[in-house]
Amino acid sequence: MKVYIETLGCKVNFADSASISSYLAANGYTVITEPSEADLYIINSCSVTHRAERECRQLARRFHSYNPSAGVIITGCSVLSGTFRKRIGEIHFVNLVNIKDIPQILGLHLSSDIRPYYNRSRPFIKIQEGCDRFCSYCIVPYLRGKPRSVDINSILASVKTAAENGFMEIVLVGTHIMLYKDPVTGKDIYGLLGDIENIEGKFRVRLSSVEPYGLNEENIRRLSEYKRLCAHFHIPLQSGSDKVLNEMGRDYYVSDFRNVTESIKERFPEAAIGTDIITGFPSETEADFEKTVDFISSVPVDYLHVFRFSPREGTIAASMKQLASQSEIKRRSEILLKISFDKRRDMLKKYIGREMDILITENSEKVSGLTHNYIRVILNKGNYAKGQLCRVNLKSINENNTITGEPI
Ligand code: SF4
Repeated sequence: MKVYIETLGCKVNFADSASISSYLAANGYTVITEPSEADLYIINSCSVTHRAERECRQLARRFHSYNPSAGVIITGCSVLSGTFRKRIGEIHFVNLVNIKDIPQILGLHLSSDIRPYYNRSRPFIKIQEGCDRFCSYCIVPYLRGKPRSVDINSILASVKTAAENGFMEIVLVGTHIMLYKDPVTGKDIYGLLGDIENIEGKFRVRLSSVEPYGLNEENIRRLSEYKRLCAHFHIPLQSGSDKVLNEMGRDYYVSDFRNVTESIKERFPEAAIGTDIITGFPSETEADFEKTVDFISSVPVDYLHVFRFSPREGTIAASMKQLASQSEIKRRSEILLKISFDKRRDMLKKYIGREMDILITENSEKVSGLTHNYIRVILNKGNYAKGQLCRVNLKSINENNTITGEPI
């Protein structure tokens, strides 16, 4: 049977989808990458925004139109979301399945020697999931539950296998990776990174998003000791106003974020720092937004992911009065996106003329790869394999803030 898996949302979902794929492959299913041919569709969904839930419903309808006799399973976060369940009830052909029940529903036998399934040029290895911080806008703690960590031996085994399979980069993913704690030995993220340093192979390690709570001067110094670690940190700020941060339930001040980013740039001079900002949080005034603009312009952040506030039923923020209109929220997003574009460009300018290694992540219509500090480099077509490291000269910046490179 041919199965197509579509993944929405965060890197933890991508890691979960890779695990499901490996179980399917070990049980005689064929996991395919072209959706029109499938006998079974699995959508690993996201509920962080309305938009992600809508996309999931649209995908379900599209897959059904490809093959009306194929099964469509929706799993992942949306299965646990009350609003999503109400709306998906209108679509008769989907089955909602909790992710942990997928093996049982599909009759999959799990054993310890299942070969990992790699569908990416950089395997995402889940080390932790869950959160108990309950930020006022966020649905994740209700859906993913309390923080829990994967045991260190299975993580190390996954990294070792990925290295033996020739992968040159692995990404450690989780809801809060800095909270990592091996359930048996109590080893923390530094212990884990130390053990990964000792695994043979020429591969680098990237961390997925890191909350500002998890960082301070001392642990940034400790991170700088790991030679494999990519100089790339994504640290969600959410607002540049202390008042809004407080209402969001974010347990830090903007000054803490400044200290963290400055300290990273000191320890990792080539670091790319990205952040998330929410525009139009219900209580965000024009003055709060101006504070965000001023703050973000003055800290050493290199790009922003800008999200428009999306009320999630059951969270505190969903019942707050919305001060800004949708058109105003759109205006604020556009201002931040422009700042992000300019910041990114300023960073890229520093690298023109440099030689760097890129990991090839795309080799279909376009060929492109990523430097350790998250610069997207485009190459002319050629004979490259996904996942290969390639030494390039960074030649010029493109309109869309990528760089054209030339292999050396
Ligand atoms: S820290 Fe806040 S935003 Fe991040 S997952 Fe937990 S509740 Fe959500």
